[in-house]
Amino acid sequence: MRESFEIRDTDAGGRIGELTVPRAGTTVETPALLPVINPNLDTISPRRLADEFGAEILITNSYIIHGDDTLRERALEEGLHDLLDFPGAIMTDSGSFQLSEYGEIDVTTTEILAFQREIGSDIATPVDIPTPPDVSRERAAADLETTQERLEVAETADTGEMLVSAPVQGSTYPDLRERAGRHADGTDLDVFPVGAVVPLMNDYRYDDMVDVVAAAKRGLGADAPVHLFGAGHPMMFALAVAMGCDLFDSAAYALYARDDRYLTVRGTRALDDLEYLPCSCAVCTAHSPAELRALPDAERESELAAHNLHVTFAEIRRIKQAIRTGDLLELVEQRARAHPTMLDGYRTLLDHAAQLERRDPVSKGSFFYTSHESARRPEVVRHHQRLERLSVPDTLLLTEGNAPRSDEFDDAWRVEPPFGPFPRALSKSYPLTAEVPARTDRAALEAAADGVATLVATNPETTFTLAHEGWPAAVLERVPDAVALVDLTAN
Ligand SMILES: [Zn+2]
Repeated sequence: MRESFEIRDTDAGGRIGELTVPRAGTTVETPALLPVINPNLDTISPRRLADEFGAEILITNSYIIHGDDTLRERALEEGLHDLLDFPGAIMTDSGSFQLSEYGEIDVTTTEILAFQREIGSDIATPVDIPTPPDVSRERAAADLETTQERLEVAETADTGEMLVSAPVQGSTYPDLRERAGRHADGTDLDVFPVGAVVPLMNDYRYDDMVDVVAAAKRGLGADAPVHLFGAGHPMMFALAVAMGCDLFDSAAYALYARDDRYLTVRGTRALDDLEYLPCSCAVCTAHSPAELRALPDAERESELAAHNLHVTFAEIRRIKQAIRTGDLLELVEQRARAHPTMLDGYRTLLDHAAQLERRDPVSKGSFFYTSHESARRPEVVRHHQRLERLSVPDTLLLTEGNAPRSDEFDDAWRVEPPFGPFPRALSKSYPLTAEVPARTDRAALEAAADGVATLVATNPETTFTLAHEGWPAAVLERVPDAVALVDLTAN
């Protein structure tokens, strides 16, 4: 276990954890949202973030403070916590974003880490190279080498109690991301941002984002706290948490408010287009859309930012509860319906079901089959793996119907889509207690047929009979030829 991070509960790849931030003398419960504070613009004051929204941690940019004479002097004199008036933990960014936007910055990792320590940052960031998506492999690898050198510089820097983050780069090359994760994990640094994913999210490439995070996670240890850097839209939090991300930073709440945009968990709406406010936060219960539109600019921006934050924090709480209840993937399935590209993200997540399965609890409260994607969930993957270890008799009936009264077979196992066959003794155990719609879909039947195929392949000596409820020919094609078939709906 990493000293600063402890995992309390898990569901799929998601977890509730505790990040200990020694310099702030506090513990932050994850998944956590870090509102981004621009030290020059105070849309919602940090004090209000703590008192009204319950923010335990925020993030601001040490490079902006460093580059502004007045702010720098004040930060050095008063310290960051007094400067911002924030009682929780403060993470600082280093100027890497400015580096990626403008091509150069005028500080080194050593300088900016020393500065972050001097101003009282609790979690500092070295100057990594945020390599954009789709660049040449040569460039991604060369940038990564520079980032890794800087992590090594950060490791040797005198940082005291301050935690230091180790960004994971590698552009859209999964093997580079995995290698970067492994290298970062090998340092003694503390928090692991997956960097340069903002361009992917801006282009709605949630599938590529999931692949990038999955690759980084393969390299990082399971106990590494992972920050999805620049991800602030509540629509995608559930997906990212299910992949194993623990920290999010949101500039979106303020940036969107400035453009009269209203965040929801189903996407962004223009305030001008709203006739109703689908939210019960203090802002939305006190105003109609017309009233919000009629407010003076600064006031409207502030009210919209407050709503955006409420909806963002509420989604984080909903996700935590889902992890506790064990229905995080049901929530991800709901959120995936917000936009076709989110569905691509969820389907890509299921491509990594075997990776998620390793951390998924063996038993949870419920498995609700709510879309054909459910057939590819980690629980189904695990059941098929388990089939390889179950012992079977010489003749075995696999049936969707009742057990036969005759002694024609040594035993009769149940068959339930999407899992496939299992001994009746297991029927009360998770996930075989799943709630599945009576109108089964093709994906569930195919997964069940694949379960049969797995069992047959593992037990070549056994004679199998499958009694099914009218499975279509295309599904039955997945069942090995050696299996005798009985259609229970035939007479
Ligand atoms: Zn609201």
